[in-house]
Amino acid sequence: MTEAFLQYVWHHQMLDRGLTTTDGQPVVVLRPGDLNRDAGPDFFNAHLQVGDMEWVGNIEVHIHTSDWKSHRHSEDAAYNNIILHVVYEHDCEITLQNGTTPLTLELKPYMHPSLVEHYDALMSPVEAESIPCRHQLPEVPQLVRSSTLERLAMERIEGKSEIVHRMLDESHGGWEQTCYWLVAHYFGGKVNALPFELLAKSTDQRLLARWKDDPCRLEALLMGQAGFLNNYFEDDYPRKLQADYDALRSGANLEPMGSHLWKFYRIRPSSFPTIRISQFAQLMHHSSNLFATLLDINDVHDIEKLFNQEASDYWIDHYKFDVPASRPTHKHIGKMLTQSLIINAWVPLLYVYGAMRCEQIYKDQAIGLLMQLPPEDNAVVRRWQQAGIAAVNAAETQALLQLDSHYCQSNRCLECRIGYHILKHK
Ligand code: SF4
Repeated sequence: MTEAFLQYVWHHQMLDRGLTTTDGQPVVVLRPGDLNRDAGPDFFNAHLQVGDMEWVGNIEVHIHTSDWKSHRHSEDAAYNNIILHVVYEHDCEITLQNGTTPLTLELKPYMHPSLVEHYDALMSPVEAESIPCRHQLPEVPQLVRSSTLERLAMERIEGKSEIVHRMLDESHGGWEQTCYWLVAHYFGGKVNALPFELLAKSTDQRLLARWKDDPCRLEALLMGQAGFLNNYFEDDYPRKLQADYDALRSGANLEPMGSHLWKFYRIRPSSFPTIRISQFAQLMHHSSNLFATLLDINDVHDIEKLFNQEASDYWIDHYKFDVPASRPTHKHIGKMLTQSLIINAWVPLLYVYGAMRCEQIYKDQAIGLLMQLPPEDNAVVRRWQQAGIAAVNAAETQALLQLDSHYCQSNRCLECRIGYHILKHK
C-alpha cells in the first residue's frame, strides 16, 4: 500500500458505497478536492456531507492514522482546516495543532479486494520485456486503447521537440538551418548522431548552396570537413575529392573535424559514416531549401523519395576509401533510415513549426505523416503485439514506445488511462 495509491483511490472515488466515519457518521463525497503535489494537505477544496452538515476544506491522506503523528502534523497549523483524515487503517486517535479532533474515514472496508489485487499486480516489479497489465489488457475497450495511443503519440512528438527547440535557439530561429542540422543529426543514426550534427554545424549551409549543382564538390566539402580526406589515397576518386576540398578550403574559413570522432564499429558497413556522408551530399544536391521543400510535400511517399538518396558511384564497390568491397551494391539510404528521418526529424520539426505559428494545420500534417507510415518493427512493438495490441501505423508504434518507456517500465500505471480503466473496472 502506498499513499499515492490511496490518493488515487480517493481522487477517483474508487470506493464501495456507504462511507462512514470512524465515529459512525455517514459521508457523501460531493467533491473529492484538488490533488496537491506540493507541501501541505493532500487535497484542497473538498466538499463533503457528513451527517446533516456540509463541509468544505482540505483532506489529508495517510496509510495509518498514526502517520499523522510521525509526520508531525499535530504541530503544524497548516493542517488545522482539515475536514477529513482519510486513512487506510485507523490505528489511533489524533488531534490537530488547535487541539480539536478531525473526522477520520478508514478506507480499508470500502476498497474492494480486487482493486488492491489489480494494483499489486500492476506494481509488481517489471520483468524484463514484460507488460505488467498484459493479462488485463484484453478487457480494456478498443476506444480506451485507441484514445490512449492518440494522446501518447502527441506526447512522443512533444518529447522529440526538445532537440528542435535547442537547435532553433542555436540558429536564432532559422528554420532552414535547424532542418539541415536536425536531418544531419538523425542521418548519423544512434552511433554517429553527434559527429553528423557537428559536421553539419561546421559546414556553412551557404557554401553547400553555392555548390548545390555539383554533387562531387558537395561530397568533397562534407568528406573534407568530416576529416576523411587527410590521408594519402591510391584511388582517383578520393584524390579528386581531396583536390576539390583543398581548393574550396583555400577560399573559405574551413576547419575539418577530427576523423577519430566517427565510429565504424558495431554498425553495418552500409551505415558507415562514409556512405552516409555521400548520401547526405546527394540529398543536399537534390534539395536546395530542404525545409521549404519538405513543407510543400503532403504525401509521405514523396518525402520518402526525397530522403532515399543513393551514395555516389564510387561507393557501389567501396565502404571506405581505397578498400574495395567484396560485392558491388547500390547504396540507397534505405527504408529504415528514411522512416527514422521522417519520424524523428521532419515530424517534430513540422509540429513545432505549427505550434510556434499557432497553425494547427501543420501539427495535423505532422500527425498525418505518422499515420501514413507503416508500423515500425522492433522488440517493443512485437511485445505489444503479443499482448494483443497490434499497431496499424507509425503513430501507434510511436505511442507504444512512449507508453512502454515512460509509463510501463517505470510503474506509472496510476498516470495511465489504461491503468485507470483496469482499476476502475476491477
Ligand atoms: S502503464 Fe498502463 S499500459 Fe503500462 S502496464 Fe501500467 S496500466 Fe498497463
